[in-house]
Amino acid sequence: MKNYSFFEVGRFEHLTQYVFEGAAIPFAIPGKVFLKEKLALTGMEISFNTLPAGQAVPFIHRHRQHEEAYLFLSGQGEFQVDGEIFPIQQGTVVRVAPMGERVFRNTGDTDLIWIVVQAMNGSMNTETIEDGEAVKKPIRWS
Ligand code: ZN
Repeated sequence: MKNYSFFEVGRFEHLTQYVFEGAAIPFAIPGKVFLKEKLALTGMEISFNTLPAGQAVPFIHRHRQHEEAYLFLSGQGEFQVDGEIFPIQQGTVVRVAPMGERVFRNTGDTDLIWIVVQAMNGSMNTETIEDGEAVKKPIRWS
């Protein structure tokens, strides 16, 4: 069994080719692709997402056990958690605790593009830097 998997999400302007349909919500979400199954992830969920100019996420949601980090790659908008509103733009990273009631919207004139990383709240019980270790092998590229 290989120690890796990979998947090409494709160019960000083509993210609208993906449409998410899940049991948890009664409607399809265009521009969203989850990677947990595509990559056989075991400790996190990752999604790539896009929302066109002028559009808003049409529902508020929260989680039972998972925290989420939203990594905004392009565009600008407003994010709301528990009724508090703050601006987001390329480079903004937002962490939301499981029970945070969240929603956001694109207030710019370009696509809002972001990645969500979702993981079990409280599951990182070691320092991530300490978890890595150097492998003493020569590096070869061919
Ligand atoms: Zn979520």
